[in-house]
Amino acid sequence: MAWNKPIPNVEKALKPFWEGLKNHRFLLLKCNECGAWYWPATYCRNHRNKPFFGSLSWTGASGQGKIVSYNITRVAMRPAFKDDVPYVYALIQLSEGPMISSNIINCAPESVYIDMPVRVVYRDVPEISMTIPYFEPDTAAKDMHRRGQP
Ligand SMILES: [Zn+2]
Repeated sequence: MAWNKPIPNVEKALKPFWEGLKNHRFLLLKCNECGAWYWPATYCRNHRNKPFFGSLSWTGASGQGKIVSYNITRVAMRPAFKDDVPYVYALIQLSEGPMISSNIINCAPESVYIDMPVRVVYRDVPEISMTIPYFEPDTAAKDMHRRGQP
């Protein structure tokens, strides 16, 4: 199916993130000095930094997190999304700490809840030479959670 949605605007500072997605790797920035994780690029808030983000390195991350906030879109605001409604757009706190926003797929919108464990899904879109990150319920993490419950 042809890609008729807006093409993500890849700013230079996030190019390695998008390149990583093409290889189905979820990269975040990790501080070389203290190990804190960041996304998008910023200066580490824990200490003095080297110039030009020299203290941060793109590092493979889990691609897992939990939903902090979400909404269910039932009326498409653009024609390109009319076949997708209803869909869930969520704010996700990654296991490493940074927040990212994306669509939650592979589940009924009504089954989504706050704190739901999710994991990244890579959708390759050859038409635009990009891989778009979506998120889906992380059933393995949910099972772990259940085991912890009496
Ligand atoms: Zn640091």
